[in-house]
Amino acid sequence: MLYQETFDVIVVGGGHAGTEAALAAARMGRKTLLLTHNLETLGQMSCNPAIGGIGKGHLVKEIDALGGAMAIAADKGGIQFRTLNSSKGPAVRATRAQADRQLYRAAIRQILENQPNISIFQQSCDDLIVENDQVTGVVTQMGLKFKAKSVVLTVGTFLGGQIHIGLQSHSGGRAGDPPSIALAKRLRELPFRVDRLKTGTPPRIDARTIDFSQMQPQPGDNPTPVFSFMGKHSDQPQQIPCYITFTNEKTHDVIRNNLDRSPMYTGVIEGIGPRYCPSIEDKITRFADKDKHQIFIEPEGLTTHEVYPNGISTSLPFDVQLSIVRSIKGMENAHITRPGYAIEYDFFDPRDLKNSLETKFIKGLFFAGQINGTTGYEEAGAQGLLAGLNAALFSQNKDSWSPGREQAYLGVLVDDLTTMGTKEPYRMFTSRAEYRLMLREDNADSRLTEKGREFGLVDDARWAAFNEKMEQIALERQRLKQSWVHPQHAALTAVNALVKTPLSKEASLEELVRRPEVTYAQLMQISDLGPGLEDPATAEQVEIQIKYEGYIHRQQDEIAKQQRNEQTLLPKQFDYGSVRGLSNEVIAKLNQTQPQTVGQASRISGITPAAISLLLVYLKKQG
Ligand code: FAD
Repeated sequence: MLYQETFDVIVVGGGHAGTEAALAAARMGRKTLLLTHNLETLGQMSCNPAIGGIGKGHLVKEIDALGGAMAIAADKGGIQFRTLNSSKGPAVRATRAQADRQLYRAAIRQILENQPNISIFQQSCDDLIVENDQVTGVVTQMGLKFKAKSVVLTVGTFLGGQIHIGLQSHSGGRAGDPPSIALAKRLRELPFRVDRLKTGTPPRIDARTIDFSQMQPQPGDNPTPVFSFMGKHSDQPQQIPCYITFTNEKTHDVIRNNLDRSPMYTGVIEGIGPRYCPSIEDKITRFADKDKHQIFIEPEGLTTHEVYPNGISTSLPFDVQLSIVRSIKGMENAHITRPGYAIEYDFFDPRDLKNSLETKFIKGLFFAGQINGTTGYEEAGAQGLLAGLNAALFSQNKDSWSPGREQAYLGVLVDDLTTMGTKEPYRMFTSRAEYRLMLREDNADSRLTEKGREFGLVDDARWAAFNEKMEQIALERQRLKQSWVHPQHAALTAVNALVKTPLSKEASLEELVRRPEVTYAQLMQISDLGPGLEDPATAEQVEIQIKYEGYIHRQQDEIAKQQRNEQTLLPKQFDYGSVRGLSNEVIAKLNQTQPQTVGQASRISGITPAAISLLLVYLKKQG
């Protein structure tokens, strides 16, 4: 049966990528269908109940700056908030929120259900309708056909999903959910490169069977950081602590003695797992000299006793899991509520995507999230937003958009994936960005909100708040530049108490803020100089802009230099054998990757600056 209405954008999958994709397309006024297995699992966190962290928090702020839902839901669901790296420079500071799973899901569902232009439908998508290399719709499990101008696939770990606990395995998309078998089969018929990856999760535990007095409490920050640029402390629910404990030699012995029953160490699992989120069996094998590993006991919510022991992800058999858990201090009598497991799934080589996340082989078909070889809610959400935006643009025959590496972590993520591909689950780190000082969490709004507004992603309330903040920053910076403390000034004594070397001549407030030993807040407490800005986030911007101005200018110069060639387009489906002087290795890599721009080509591993010069000479000759 053909559904009567035609859509502009169909999004398949209601996880983190899918919800942001559907919301983005709908905010842009496109008629959007969100098709997902189960409405109860919209916004479900498959693994740890937390949003953010280093690199990841940056992505969440960018999603937020572009009008997305993740940060707002994290504020509504967050039960322990921290700023990581708070003693380090602003580039690597990152927000992390422990979330109540149910509150987070409820917040996402509420945002979805109140967003005009979205229809939600519960069914499995089993097939794609492709005509003349262009997607025109999808077919559900019961044979219902939905037609659309573009389709975004965000099916997570579900494609050909195989769950492993010990040497037993069964099909599944994640615990309790069915896999996508028919769709996986259909996608394998299309000309995309496909491979398998693996990820895993720890057993969950009943908190009533844990002795928390044996563990170290870890409270959140006070005051709590707020995730969304539109968020308020009053959005946040009750805050509760996490706890810290450790594995020990006994735990490690249990694991070592049972590696012959591990699906990973007996070759049953072939997919590569996340390097930075390894299973406990991986950790004790790779770091054999360590006699303990830290475990964070993270609450799953305010209304449940279940906790998530972060750090002991495992696919060992259940009896071994129980021995592992009970060998740990404070968990000697612990009851496991759900076993840990590993899951293997299909992912598609992201080098077969354009930087809009549209596939290179099927027009109008976009991929986002775990299907592209990434891991993590934040990486998925950011890609989802971009794919939804570009699917919406595609449905209007408009040019696509993707941020540059100098503009957003989202730009770094997409460029890394589409240029270099990935052999293991890809997660974001600040070290992946070359322009870290520009890509801070705190300035994600000034980097992206204007762009989001241009596309229709940013609503009036966010836009008004953003403009007011920018205006306040500009006015305050001007005031600090033009206000002086001279040797006869009433505030001199108070200022001299703050600075290392007393003032011998007049200094502007801007110069004083620039001094490493002075903070803006301290200076504003001096009665003749303050009170300054009230909103801490706005005040922080002023302070960072002044203190880091020199470094920021230097980085801007580097970006300008880099950009001269960055956007230079390369021919499509080009045979690089026709460029004189390139080595066979370089030709093979360029032919395989088919980069869109010279900038992209320069980041393919093995492509030397000399090869880039040859390419530029060739392009110049072609005129
Ligand atoms: P998902 O959140 O998986 O959402 C996919 C959605 O698509 C689901 O709603 C599903 O029902 C729906 N769907 C699938 N197929 C169809 C279909 N054919 N028709 C309709 N709907 C469909 N991340 C980490 O960062 N660290 C970890 O350690 C980690 N461990 C994990 C362990 C496990 C066991 C699992 C399952 C995931 C783990 N993750 C981890 C990954 C994290 O859950 C994902 O990165 C993130 O959820 C990906 O988001 P997504 O939107 O791409 O997919």
